[in-house]
Amino acid sequence: MFPEFSLRYARLPERFYLHFDPLPVPEPRLVAFNQALAEQLGFDLEAFDEQRAAQWFAGNVVPPGAEPVAQAYAGHQFGHFNPRLGDGRAVLLGEVVDREGRLRDIQLKGAGMTPFSRGADGRAPLGPVLREYLVSEAMHRLGVPSTRALAAVTTGERVFRRVPEPGAVLTRVASSHLRVGTFQYFAARDDIEAVRTLVDMAIERHYPHLREAALAEREEGERYLAFLEAVAERQAALVAQWMGLGFIHGVMNTDNCTISGETIDYGPCAFMEAYSPTMVFSSIDEQGRYAYRNQPWIAQWNLARLAETLIPLIDDDQEAAIARATRVIEAYEPCYEAEWLAVFREKLGLARGEEGDRALAEAFLEALAAGRADFTLAFRRLAEAVEADAPALLALFENDAALRAWLPRWRERLAREAASPEAVAVRMNAVNPLYIPRNHQVERVIAAAAEHDDFGPFEALREVLAEPFTEQSGCEAYAEPAPATERVLRTFCGT
Ligand code: AMP
Ligand code: MG
Repeated sequence: MFPEFSLRYARLPERFYLHFDPLPVPEPRLVAFNQALAEQLGFDLEAFDEQRAAQWFAGNVVPPGAEPVAQAYAGHQFGHFNPRLGDGRAVLLGEVVDREGRLRDIQLKGAGMTPFSRGADGRAPLGPVLREYLVSEAMHRLGVPSTRALAAVTTGERVFRRVPEPGAVLTRVASSHLRVGTFQYFAARDDIEAVRTLVDMAIERHYPHLREAALAEREEGERYLAFLEAVAERQAALVAQWMGLGFIHGVMNTDNCTISGETIDYGPCAFMEAYSPTMVFSSIDEQGRYAYRNQPWIAQWNLARLAETLIPLIDDDQEAAIARATRVIEAYEPCYEAEWLAVFREKLGLARGEEGDRALAEAFLEALAAGRADFTLAFRRLAEAVEADAPALLALFENDAALRAWLPRWRERLAREAASPEAVAVRMNAVNPLYIPRNHQVERVIAAAAEHDDFGPFEALREVLAEPFTEQSGCEAYAEPAPATERVLRTFCGT
């Protein structure tokens, strides 16, 4: 039933990982399984056996052909470099080729203590597992590149965090788990050959247009600059999408910054409700380093760390290499600004581009901030106000003066669009979601599962989030911001 493994990472030289078999758990129980994704990955669902699947996804039985490894990586955590992080609680079973011919990593997260655990327990509590499951799948449905969730099992063990919680294992699927931190691990050891190997692998898996043949005419260093530029472009596009959804990642450390441009590690992440550009949720982000408005510049900072690992490969002359890499990192800024504008233009129903569009988008955000309006619903209900003020939109604003001044300006701009008002509204509803994983909903689902072993609310939320742009009857409550008593303003990474 398990698709055939096509091992890649485990075939790299030994210094890239440590062989490590997941540690068995007492009572594996499959509590969530992503059929659609399983099908895409080539699982034979006719032969699906829940007991056996639970054994696999708990790590009790290594599926045929897998060679589990814990990957080595380093990382800057909140700006401080740690030369040796690595998979402290995750194991990569191996890669499979999906139905579209793409190589995908299958990883168990919460699979037990590894040599990279640094004294921690190697396990994951059910809450963070369900949170990652829901939010990563929601991101995918929202059109944001993301790791995926294939399965969740409970282990029958308790793990101890702030309070004892049921233990769980998440099966995560990624187009790879290469991170900026993977490159840093080897650069910190002056292992230039290993960095070269990582670039080769990353190009093969994520940037095939940069394969040797395509760049044969150019000098060697160009290849590494082109790679850096390609990663920077993906990160710029990714963060612009986050910004367009009010998504705050929460731990943008370099070990959580993928080379593929997929969102990874949904620890303390959250979607904003009332719009505030300085918003921070994570309990450990005391300085607000990873606040909403900082995210684009943190991504650039992370890219500069990636650039540093490539310096010896770019040019033998270090100064020249630094100058060339710096130009690529500087080019991130206009690239990001263009991505941001493209995202917000679409959100405002603008298909053409005009000079004043950035100012128009910024003015709407200022109106949101002034009115403490819900970010998601304000954009969604804007589609109702294409022709006339919509009471449902105005009702979101504690103070709607700035909004009232802005709306005529926007309509004047819309008048220069080729599309009819109806068509504009349809277009807007296709990019402005009605349903996002709201923190209080996620918390409710986790409480029902962890405290009452009731996974019904999880399933219900998962179903709603599968169609984020389509109004679903009877699901009004899922679209609403948290009631005052349930507002979540702090999130925890659950490690
Ligand atoms: P994260 O915050 O999940 O990105 O993890 C950062 C680092 O801490 C990685 O090296 C993880 O493997 C490690 N880590 C996080 N939680 C645990 C845990 N419960 N046991 C062992 N290592 C952990
Ligand atoms: Mg991580």
